[in-house]
Amino acid sequence: MEEKKGLKNRGYSHSDVDERRKAVEKFTGARLENISKYCFDSERASKNIENMIGATQIPLGFAGPVIINGDNAKGEFIIPLATTEGALVASISRGMSVINDGGGVRAKVFLDGMTRAPVFRTDGIDHCVKVMEWIEGNRELLSSIVDTTTNHGKLASIESFPAGRNLFVRFTYGTGDAMGMNMATIATEAVCKKIEEGTGAIMVSVSGNMCSDKKAAAINMIRGRGKSVMAEALIPKEVVESRLHTSTESIVETHIRKNLLGSSLSVTLGANAHAANMIVALYIATGQDPAQVVSGSMTTTMCEDIGGDLYIAVRMPTVEVGTVGGGTRLPSQSEALDMIGCLGEKKALKLAEIVAATVLAGELSTISAQAAGHLGKAHKELGR
Ligand code: NAP
Repeated sequence: MEEKKGLKNRGYSHSDVDERRKAVEKFTGARLENISKYCFDSERASKNIENMIGATQIPLGFAGPVIINGDNAKGEFIIPLATTEGALVASISRGMSVINDGGGVRAKVFLDGMTRAPVFRTDGIDHCVKVMEWIEGNRELLSSIVDTTTNHGKLASIESFPAGRNLFVRFTYGTGDAMGMNMATIATEAVCKKIEEGTGAIMVSVSGNMCSDKKAAAINMIRGRGKSVMAEALIPKEVVESRLHTSTESIVETHIRKNLLGSSLSVTLGANAHAANMIVALYIATGQDPAQVVSGSMTTTMCEDIGGDLYIAVRMPTVEVGTVGGGTRLPSQSEALDMIGCLGEKKALKLAEIVAATVLAGELSTISAQAAGHLGKAHKELGR
């Protein structure tokens, strides 16, 4: 259909979408009445979807306000969350309200860099070493090639992993306010051409899975990818007892037996109650790539009893978010970013801190609900 009209999936109009949907209705026999209803300009989505036939609506709610004292996110925030899981938003909101009673969340981005790691075929170990030396000696040249592909991306570091006749080279880039996956891929392809010319190594794939994108990978958990963020809060003993209807001791015990021991025995990457829930709801609302919840799920939650008060923290090594590019340009997603003051430039670190604060609140609420034996009841009342 596209080729006949010369459209090639770019800049299609509302009527193209209608025509395509009707063809799908005819083929499948399904009536797509609800899918046909959407209010954004389909041309604006042409960089986000091919074969567009309409839109899927996901309910959007809010949690908060939450007080965040981040390096970048400062103040009170109402958090947009898109989900179909009843009880999730209420639970996160409860966590936020309790955290506010303790003074709010401290949040900080401690690393920032998007990675792409191509795999090269070499002649063997000695060739791998020569290629690694060539890359090391031509660092400035490679940096200048990156600069020809992007105005905002900057080569930050290069790390090589030789393995027999394979060489994996992990490039890390600063990507400004973009999540940066397209940017890093385009830059890496250009750099790889020069490496091939200079060394005779053959790039087999621009993504050799040491990047590692959209996979639960230990390399990201240890080294970080995108933004690496921490958030923490201290909840006074009285607040734990009056608001969460349990004790710090019970929460810490639940955390140790569930998050630490259970995750260890099941060989989970990360140790948390349900970090993925908060991440994906916020990612969908704000136009992030929801597949990257996989790496976000490698969150480590920590709970400690400090003289009866509850210290709770999250370490999120892989928060792959941006405030320009990708799905952020879509109108509903832009509005959701606007709700948290994260629309546009110089806001990506702020968004990463908001993600961590939201995850912290969800972790607090769910771990304490389990400590108090309330989890099933809440889901029964709110989600069924
Ligand atoms: P993008 O929309 O492809 O690129 C970001 C664009 O914004 C660039 O054109 C950049 O220009 C421009 N830009 C303007 N102001 C900027 C600023 N302040 N900071 C940074 N960039 C600015 O987005 P991306 O973040 O690179 O990639 C995200 C998309 O990649 C998502 O849609 C995601 O689903 C998809 N994705 C791709 C892959 C892949 O392998 N390619 C993998 C996973 C996900 P300059 O480049 O000229 O600076």
